[in-house]
Amino acid sequence: MKNTGYIVYGKPDIKQAEIEEVVDSMKNAWLGSGPKVHQFEQNFAEYKNIDSSMVAAVNSCTAALHLALIASGIGPGDEVITTGMTFCATVNAIIHSGATPVIADIDATSYNICPLNIQKKITAKTKAIVVVHFAGNACDMNQIMKISNNHCLKVIEDCAHAVESEYQGKKLGTIGDFGCFSFYVTKNMTTGEGGMVVAKNKDDIDKIKMLALHGISKDAWKRFSDDGYKHYQVVFPGYKYNMMDIQAAIGIHQLKRIDQNHIVRAAQFQRYLEMLKDLPIKHPPSPSKGDKASYHLYPILVKDNYGINRDQLIQKLHLLGIGVGVHYLSIMSHDYYQKNLPTENKTPVADKFGQQTLSLPLSSALTETEQSRVINALRKIYNEVD
Ligand SMILES: *Cc1c(COP(=O)(O)O)cnc(C)c1O
Repeated sequence: MKNTGYIVYGKPDIKQAEIEEVVDSMKNAWLGSGPKVHQFEQNFAEYKNIDSSMVAAVNSCTAALHLALIASGIGPGDEVITTGMTFCATVNAIIHSGATPVIADIDATSYNICPLNIQKKITAKTKAIVVVHFAGNACDMNQIMKISNNHCLKVIEDCAHAVESEYQGKKLGTIGDFGCFSFYVTKNMTTGEGGMVVAKNKDDIDKIKMLALHGISKDAWKRFSDDGYKHYQVVFPGYKYNMMDIQAAIGIHQLKRIDQNHIVRAAQFQRYLEMLKDLPIKHPPSPSKGDKASYHLYPILVKDNYGINRDQLIQKLHLLGIGVGVHYLSIMSHDYYQKNLPTENKTPVADKFGQQTLSLPLSSALTETEQSRVINALRKIYNEVD
């Protein structure tokens, strides 16, 4: 798009350091998984305060989720409980593992999966829970870990929104058996496409690394190194999910600025809250006491009894040069899941949220002037329908 002043939703914040690091990879001709992926993994582990052998860089969060499920031994005949308010990739990864997704409704305040609803969905076939820390607010992990311990279930944390988030002082992704992160373009930090798996257990992360690279035996993935050629063995029919050095080159510098960018979004969040507090919209929840939010999204709810519904508001903002997001239509409102998942998957709270929600621009790439334009546009629109 030309520079027309249109505020594109989710524009990444790319700086010169990333550009130079990518050029460096191109020049030294190490494009695939190599030293920069290794460095990025180490830096990420350090950021998460865990041992660097407990992370694996992959090419998306979708891949990360799929691998976590496969490494958990989940497959056909199993059930995996997840939330009705998430991106489709969470559910598709479960389907690709061969298991049946069971969709639980969300809590109306936090928009996160409701532990009571998880409890209700457990059967003899349930093997795992995939939780999503929606918008970067932590799920009720104490309750969820209690349920998982009582029923011997694996817990996989979809942390696509939650790189920076903490729950009662614990970094998200390190509480369950696996944490899966996304570095997609619109996320808090990006590698273009990319993801990361964090595991609690050494055997699990070793399995993830093996599965992410064709299922070939561990040491063999250095087969073209300067130690000389080595034969390799395939120990499982694995996947092609490894991260490239070109992606890691971007990620290394994005991670360096993550806390700085977090401060910018936190301030933008407070500013929306303050400047739009009298409008007839519902604002997103602030983090629970003792938690750290990532401030990934600013999802408002448009109350449809106020002369303008969500889709009309999106259109009016668009005409004023402002792009917004919708996170998300509920899982059960999509055609495929409606037709193919069991009919007991009723999620009225997520469905209603999905009809009313709209995400305002929230990004370190958004300038203060641009945020003012968003605020003024919303005030103007609501003034006119008044
Ligand atoms: C973006 C997203 C994903 C998928 O991430 P990719 O890296 O694009 O595969 C999964 N879950 C949630 C909640 C997301 O927002």
